[in-house]
This record gives sequence, structure tokens and C-alpha cells, in this order.
Amino acid sequence: MTVFDLAVRGGTVVTARGRARLDVYAAGGRIAALRAAGAPGLDARQVVDASGHYVLPGMVDSHVHLMDPGDEAREDFPTGSGAAALQGVTTIVEHTHGWPVTTVERLREKVAHLEGRSYVDYGLAAHLWPEHLDQLAPLWAAGVTFFKIFTCDTHGIPALGADLLLDAFDGLAAVDGTCLVHCEDNAITAAAEARLRAAGRTDGWIVPEWRSRAAEEVAVTTVALLARLAGARVTVAHASTPDVLDAVADQAKRGAPVAAETCPQYLLLREEEVANLGPFRKFTPPARIRSDDEADRMWAAFNTGMVHHLSTDHAPASRDHKAAHSIWDAHFGLPGLDSTTPLMIDAALRGRTSLERVVTAYATAPARRYRLAGKGDVAEGRAADLAVVDPDVTWTLDDATVHSKAGWTPYAGRQVRGRVVATVLGGRLVAQDGQLLDGERSGRFLAGPGAR
Ligand SMILES: [Zn+2]
Repeated sequence: MTVFDLAVRGGTVVTARGRARLDVYAAGGRIAALRAAGAPGLDARQVVDASGHYVLPGMVDSHVHLMDPGDEAREDFPTGSGAAALQGVTTIVEHTHGWPVTTVERLREKVAHLEGRSYVDYGLAAHLWPEHLDQLAPLWAAGVTFFKIFTCDTHGIPALGADLLLDAFDGLAAVDGTCLVHCEDNAITAAAEARLRAAGRTDGWIVPEWRSRAAEEVAVTTVALLARLAGARVTVAHASTPDVLDAVADQAKRGAPVAAETCPQYLLLREEEVANLGPFRKFTPPARIRSDDEADRMWAAFNTGMVHHLSTDHAPASRDHKAAHSIWDAHFGLPGLDSTTPLMIDAALRGRTSLERVVTAYATAPARRYRLAGKGDVAEGRAADLAVVDPDVTWTLDDATVHSKAGWTPYAGRQVRGRVVATVLGGRLVAQDGQLLDGERSGRFLAGPGAR
């Protein structure tokens, strides 16, 4: 009789296709068997009792910044990937603006540096800089997951204007590559910044005035149009409003291989919070929701699939940093890996969305879009990456629950239902009951689909 490496027994497996009571058996890092819960006859060296629990595919977060190498005081791979593993995220795609991968040599250096530093599997994205467009094909062949592109000068990364965007998208289409585009119009944001600085403004409202809805919508409309003209697989990063999602959908309907990502901050945080919380709500695009009606429209977009997938855009800065700097000087960004799975499970258990939709948006869809082979599903032959969720626990997100070096969460004080109680990566338990178990940090680099 076959003895499997691990069994997760008695739970309700939830995938993008629905749910069923199934026992999951892993061997050699893969899901080797699925059996009706309680069916006798199969044996495993290690057993996780998932009775009364949900068994989800390990989550796939395709937009995180762990700043390693780059700015390890803000985050590093051991802490950031540890936060991921504790919350059921088993695959990430990482890129760091302070140490951008712009050449094949930089990619090799980063891959070597990260050996043994990650609790979860990871792909790496490259930055496409104006003076490095010739690196697109070699970087794709060297195994990056996607290219990050900015339409505005932000985080020290130079913008690509419409001319260079079209060149980049043509280059991507030629290699069947894919990219993630941060969309804010450079001229609109630069003019707003100059006006706000000249007026001597230092209040929190400068963030949504500087990084305006108009700036985002203009850039998204242009990017989605160019994606159609080039036939390039383009993802619009962190879509913040239903109008932005409409602009993406318009071009998708006309045949553009374009899709939109959003993040919990655009479903759950309100624009007005920046007035009191200043740097602690400085991220871009900023939170846009002004009313319950707008929140309902974003959730409807999430539930109907207008939001193709979800990510954190995890970009932490410490509480001390945020508290010590002005609204102009503080880093952009929020921590997200500690809170995203809890918030989305809570939303599902409260009926705002469904677990099937959460699994689709935060595992299956990003794995498919970025061709992360074997990830994002619970099925025979797929990676044995699982998140086991106890739906009967209610707990409160607070700074003490944060594993990221950020040390704080924008959602402190929120009560959530459901908790990840075990995380399995490649058939091995990597976290259980809030503890990291994998002392070796055996997360592996996932070479991208263009790797030769
Ligand atoms: Zn980002």
C-alpha cells in the first residue's frame, strides 16, 4: 500500500470550481490523491486533522515588495515570506523598487542571494527601465515572471511614456511575455505635486489630490488601449475604482489581453482616513472609497470577476518611519501580507463574497495569468500547497499579530471571522497554529514561463 507524505483529512476543499468534503494526500510535493472524506485505506506519515475546517489552495500573491536586497530595515525575505506562510500564502511574485532587476546579471545575483531565505515559493519580476528595454527578451528567457512598468516617475523608477510603452508591449507580445503596469499619468501627477507644494500644503488630503482619480483613469485608459494595439498580456496594477475597472473591461471586450488587479485597501479603506492618519494612509493609488455605495460597487466588481485577481501590494514601512516623517517625506505603501487572507476569509464568511471567489481571485487566477505551473488549485497532480482555515474562530487584527517588519497593520481593531491554522507547501507543513515550522526555509525560486 502506498504511504503518502501527508494527509489533510476531514475538511471541506474549496476551489474555483466549488466545494466538496475531501481528504487530500500528498506525495513528492504534489497532490497524489483526493478521496471522499473518511474513505478508508490510504495511509500517510503525517496527518493534519481538518475536521470542521476549510482546505483551500495555498494563496498566490503576485504583487509584493520584500526589499531584499534593497532596504532590509523595512522588510526582508525571512520576515515577509514568514508573514505570507502564516496566512496561507504559499507563492509570491516579488519585486523591489530600491534594488530593481533591470538586467540578467541582476536577476542572477538576486536569485543567488535569496537561496534559503524564503518560507514560500517565489517568482521574481523585473523592472523595465527606459534605457534597458533591450533587456526585455533576455530577462524573459532568464526566467522572470513578469515585467513591472511605471507610467509615472514613482519610488525612484522612471516612467515609460506612450511611445516607450508601445515599444515595450510590442516586445512583450513578441516573446508572449506579460507585465504589470502601475498606472498614473505623469503630467497630471507632476502638475498637481507642483501646485500642492507651492501652496505649502502638508495635510493628508494632498495624497488623493496629488494621485488623483483623473491621473489614474487617464493612464489606465492609455495602457489598456496600447495593450490592445500591441496584443500584449498586460495587467493593470492596483485598480482603485469601478471606473478604472470599466476602462480595463472596455478594452478587454475589444480583444485586448488586459486584466485588472485590485487589493484589499481599495475594498475596505476609505479615502477620508488620510485626513487623520496621514503617512499611515500614504500609498498610491490612494484609498478612493467615499461611501457605502462605492464600497458596494467595488465588491460587486470583485464578485463578478471584473477584478481579475487580488494582491496585497505589500510595501511596508515601520510605524516609527511613518510617525517620524511628513506626508511628503514618508514612504508610500502599506503592509498587507499579515492581513489580506484574514480580511478576505472574513468577507466570505460574512457573505460579502464567497470562499470560491476568494480562492479564484487570490490563488487560481493569478497562478493562471502568470503561468505559475501547478499552483492555485487543489487537484490531483497540482502542487500540494494548502491553507487550512478554521471558520469558527473570531479574532482581532492588531499590531501584535503582525509578523512583517512593518510591526503595524492598517486594519488594527478589526474583528475577523476565520483563521488560517495550517499552511502546507509542497506537501510539508510550513506553519501551524501561528508558528513557522520550516527552519530551513525551503521555499524555491520559480523560473518564469519564458525560461530557457
Ligand atoms: Zn507595488
